[in-house]
Amino acid sequence: MAVERTLSIIKPDAVGKNAIGGIYSRFESVGLRIVAARMKHLTQKEAEGFYAVHSERPFFKDLVSFMISGPVMVSVLEGENAVAVHRDIMGATNPKQAAPGTIRADFAESIDENAVHGSDSLENAKNEISYFFRVTELCPRTR
Ligand code: UDP
Repeated sequence: MAVERTLSIIKPDAVGKNAIGGIYSRFESVGLRIVAARMKHLTQKEAEGFYAVHSERPFFKDLVSFMISGPVMVSVLEGENAVAVHRDIMGATNPKQAAPGTIRADFAESIDENAVHGSDSLENAKNEISYFFRVTELCPRTR
């Protein structure tokens, strides 16, 4: 297994519930290290650009409105197999189908307001990380 980096977004619903710390604990408990983090209130352009792959989907407009409805916490997580490990602990897109104990099962209400985003492949992770962070803003652990 290789050390990977992945992009996490704690979405406006979870930030609004004061759940940043609770969700960060989930990351740290499975060995994911936070190597960059920024709280941001996304602009419409930023949200549309980030989710451009979904621009033809019927839920796109509502998704963008939701993502700009409040601040988000954008982070880069690092660890062995980070992309898959992060996706596993997030749970299914629809929280009603998410396995018990996953972040979405515990913190999300609905498929459109589902608490967290996580890159779904290593290639997408690289693109998504560079969408928000410069290389010099990543802080690999030295101890
Ligand atoms: N989404 C939605 N309605 C749907 C499917 C997805 O609002 O029917 C939103 C939801 O916030 C989801 C995001 O669009 O997290 C991206 O969808 P994707 O299928 O990539 O799911 P994810 O990778 O986030 O689990």
